[in-house]
Order: sequence, then structure tokens, then C-alpha cells
Amino acid sequence: MRVLLKKAINQTGIAMQRHQTIIQGIKWFVVAIYFLLLIIPALMHLPPKHSHIFNNIVLFAQFVFWGIWWPFVILSMLFIGRIWCGVFCPEGTLTEWTSKNFGRNKKIPRLLKWRGWPAIAFILTTLYGQLISVYDYAIPALLILGGSTAAAIVIGYLYGNGNRVWCRYLCPVNGVFNLLSRLSPFTFKTDQQKWSEFQEKEHSNPHCPPMINIRQLHGVSACHMCGRCAGYRNAVSLQTRSVNEEILVYGNEQQNIWQIRLLLFGMIGVAIGAFTWTVSPWFVYFKQYLAEWLVNHEIFWPLNATAPWWILTNYPANNDSFNLLDGFCVSFYILGSGILYGVWLTLIYKFLARLYHKPDFYLYFSQALIPLAAAGLFLGLNATSVKLLQYEGIVFWWLKDMRAIILGGASIWSLYLGYKILRKYNKYFYQMFLSFTLYTVSVIPVVGAWVLMFWIW
Ligand code: SF4
Repeated sequence: MRVLLKKAINQTGIAMQRHQTIIQGIKWFVVAIYFLLLIIPALMHLPPKHSHIFNNIVLFAQFVFWGIWWPFVILSMLFIGRIWCGVFCPEGTLTEWTSKNFGRNKKIPRLLKWRGWPAIAFILTTLYGQLISVYDYAIPALLILGGSTAAAIVIGYLYGNGNRVWCRYLCPVNGVFNLLSRLSPFTFKTDQQKWSEFQEKEHSNPHCPPMINIRQLHGVSACHMCGRCAGYRNAVSLQTRSVNEEILVYGNEQQNIWQIRLLLFGMIGVAIGAFTWTVSPWFVYFKQYLAEWLVNHEIFWPLNATAPWWILTNYPANNDSFNLLDGFCVSFYILGSGILYGVWLTLIYKFLARLYHKPDFYLYFSQALIPLAAAGLFLGLNATSVKLLQYEGIVFWWLKDMRAIILGGASIWSLYLGYKILRKYNKYFYQMFLSFTLYTVSVIPVVGAWVLMFWIW
């Protein structure tokens, strides 16, 4: 049975390689749907009161983008790796196509290759999205998603020679997908021995759009799962693996500090801030306190001044406009949450690294939090789906239980990964006990934030 399954999975990879025309068709179909859902709602009026997902294209597009598309893209990373990037993503398709057909193939500047861009881009896009209410209105969605797509096309035009320079260095979610896909049970892998033993002459090398060294391929985090290299030199194949393998076995090879900053400050801290501010009583107290202070000092302009919709949410017809104080408080809350969580987790994991006299331990160990970060992102995005469906009168009686199972399961998974990594470094029971206790303490505020959001506030 196991052998049959292994063979079937391998054959799926080979089929992907052989049927690239079908994959191209899928890619362009997704591009067409993407543009339709992005552009048409932005040209229409705000939905009238009492409109529904199924009779208003604006609400329908909003539901598809934020209620289905994004939560399930996140989920797909965990189950099938970055197949979204390699087969479905419209930006990947467009940047690669532009580069291949019209590209100037300029030398990629060093600045573009800076490893911090995915982290910075994710944090800024998340904050900006909240300030202009990207989940609620079509024009901000066009600005953010369309702007990102336009940038992908421009980068493809300038650089790459048919490769995906945008995806590899600049895409705001590249870092997030890179981290999440480490938990995928499927991966393309290269068998080193078969590679060396292969004697025949290959007619052509496979084209790897994200520019990966296929010979060294043993994980899915950078691979877009496009399938073009499947079967190459009889050595590359689609395989299953343990969902912990990429972190436990290869995690200490990943020496990119920006990815860990993205994980701790962005995917955990900023995401908690971005998803909780609308329901947080702390946010309300903070804003009230500042408003009272301003009034007591007779400074009224931050309470009255608004800004264009592309700087701060501004839809008077919907009675939904941010003043400058709102904008400041949202930014402060989201970035403050990012800094608070990021610094808290970094300090503890750096302390553990010091304890073992291994500075790189921090980069390795932090990856144990990926399941918890994934659960947070999924549940946070899923809250939008639920909200939109609840407006339609749908009742989710099982919602709290499902959230508890996901959050509980992810917490146990993260604790397990942390335990397994600590076990590699600890010789003595007391060391293990102290380290694991500290790790557990570090996780409590992260889980606590989601408990507050979903069960208490
Ligand atoms: S290594 Fe490159 S060519 Fe092979 S599946 Fe991954 S992205 Fe595609």
C-alpha cells in the first residue's frame, strides 16, 4: 500500500512535468478570474444596505478574496506546499510571462536582493491594509493587490530572463509562504546518489522560475512546486515526508535572520495586532485616553481631520471614516503588538541560545513556532469569512470548538517541535526542564491573544 502510494505521488509529479500546457491553462484562467474580481467591484458603487454576497458583485468579490482565497492559500501551504505559487498565483504567472517575452534582463541590483524585503513588505502591507480597510472595500483591494501585481510585472520586465525575480526577492508574502510551507507533507526532492550516478546526456535543464539549485533540493520552502524538474536525471521526484522534517532536520541550515524576524515580529506580533484591534477593549481605552487628553488640552484637529481613502479609511456614505487619531492608534497598536511580541520571543530564544553557547540556535529554535503562527493567520483570516457568512444569516454552532481544536493542536505541535529541538542540545534533565519551561512561558502570551480575541472579548 505504502509503495503504491509512493508511486502514485511520484507519478503525480511526473504528470505535472509532462502536462505543463494544462498548468499554463490553469494559470491564465486564474489570472482572468483575479482581474475580474479585482477590477469590476472597484468600478461599482458601494453595496446598498441589505445587499448579500450572492446578489452583489462587490460583496461577492470581497468574500472570495478575503473569505475564501486568502485563508485557503494559507492552508494550502501547510498541506501541499507552495503549489499556489507555482501553479495558481497570478502575480507569479504575470511576472514570469513578462520577463520571458518582453524582459530587458538587466543585472539584478544588490539592493533588490536584500533579505529583509519580504519581512518589511509583509509588515507594511498588513498595516496599510488595516488603515485603508482593505478587507471591507473594493478600491483599497485594487490599490494593494493591483499595485503589487503592477510591481511584479515591472520587475519581470526589468529583470530575470524568464525567472521570477519578484517572487524570490520582493513578494510581500514570499517570506510567509516560505515559512508555512516547511510544514507541508509533500515536497520535490533530489536523490543525491541517483543524480551522481546518472550517465545519460539530458537534452535540456529544467527551467526553475525561482532560481533554485535543483541538485540541492531537499525542502519545499523556496520551491514553488511547479513540477518542471520532476524526473530530471531520474533523481528529482515528488515525495511525502514527515511534516516536521524540514524544521527538525534541515532547520539549522536556514540561516536567514530576516525570516525569523518576519515570523516573530510579523506573522505573530503584527498579525495579532492587525486581527485584534477591532475587538480589543485595550484599543478603545487607549484611544479614549488620548482623545480626552487632546480635548483637555484643546487640541481638536486630530479628532476632526480625515485623509483621502488611500491614506485612511474614508467612506462618509457608509459612516465609516478614520480621523487622524484613529490612524495613529491603529498604527500604534499594530506596530506596538509586533514589537512587543517580537522582542519578548527574541529575548527568550536568544537567552536560550546563550545558555547553550550557540548563537545560531535562536534561528533554528524559533522555527518551532511556525505551527502556532500558521494557526493564528488562518484563524484571523477565517474570522473575515465567518463575519461575512454570519451577515448572510448562517450560524456556525461548531465555530468555537473548531477554533479551539486548531489553536490547541497548533500549540501542542509547536511545543512538540520546541521539545524535539531542545532534546538535541540538552544533556542534563535540569537544563531540559528549565529550557522547556521558558519556551512554554514564551508561548503563553501568543495563545493568550487568540483566546482573548475569540473567547473573551
Ligand atoms: S525546484 Fe524549481 S523547477 Fe523544480 S518544482 Fe521547485 S520551483 Fe519548480
